[in-house]
Amino acid sequence: MNKKTISSTSSSQQPVDTSELSAEQYRVTQQCGTEPPFSGAYVNHNEKGIYSCVVCGNQLFDSSSKYDSGSGWPSFFAALKGDQIKSRFDESHGMRREEVLCANCDAHLGHVFPDGPEPTGLRFCVNSASLNFLPVEKTKQGEGTDSFAFNNQFLADDSLHFVSGNLLLPPFSENLETAVFALGCFWGAEKKFWQLEGVYSTAVGYAGGELINPDYHQVCHSDTGYAEVVLVVFDPAVITYSQLLEVFWQGHDPTQGMRQGYDVGRQYRSMIMAMTVEQEKQAKDSLLIQQQQRDATMTTDIIRVACFNYAEDYHQQYLAKRGS
Ligand SMILES: [Zn+2]
Repeated sequence: MNKKTISSTSSSQQPVDTSELSAEQYRVTQQCGTEPPFSGAYVNHNEKGIYSCVVCGNQLFDSSSKYDSGSGWPSFFAALKGDQIKSRFDESHGMRREEVLCANCDAHLGHVFPDGPEPTGLRFCVNSASLNFLPVEKTKQGEGTDSFAFNNQFLADDSLHFVSGNLLLPPFSENLETAVFALGCFWGAEKKFWQLEGVYSTAVGYAGGELINPDYHQVCHSDTGYAEVVLVVFDPAVITYSQLLEVFWQGHDPTQGMRQGYDVGRQYRSMIMAMTVEQEKQAKDSLLIQQQQRDATMTTDIIRVACFNYAEDYHQQYLAKRGS
């Protein structure tokens, strides 16, 4: 299980270990240095992943916000999370510029300018020497394989379902199976499934994207590819996958594309995330039958899902906690 290991944001100064830094990394991050343009390792670097602080590991930028500014330094139009970076005015070299620093350890990163592209209009101009790069984990999905991972960064290992009192996290009993569906906002979607007889547990989370350890803010405010999804843990002797598919079809409008009702965005798209070859086959057959019953073209995607990322605790069984 992949636990989040980075430290949380804090304004209090942590002792920083700079002994592992190269001379250039030290000069840039600790002495507000600037590397020569077009010299850094990440100027023309286009892999998918996360850029973190070279000093403390704080996750700072996602590759999806990186763009080619032509400046000779790695450029991003947004920070991964606003509170991981802080800024202050820098009047050195006869210019008034806004310096950006790691909010966790105060490492100098570079500057931010108001001449970036949409949607923010900002250009974070960052030294490669301030950054480490963490590539996206290669997904395990593949033809004919049933490998699947649960990723939990928010919940205690012994967390229980707020309604049923059953386990929220694996390992689940051997006789149980799991399914993952995306049908709009996960609060209401989860409730549709936890009420069913034969469903042992449900949880809300994120699936279908690539960013490591996604959180609600990232999924809702940047194009991570993730959808809000429901994990259903069920006893196939009591309720079948085919019956769950029926609940899925009836629980939303699968012709709406990148929205569901008033919830607009790619995270609300309709998707069946098959966890096994058998589920994938059943889902595809079921989709064909559903389409024959409709005039509008269905937009439901059927994909193989490699990883279910548990959402934050307050989203789990949200409607029950809220008493609705
Ligand atoms: Zn840092």
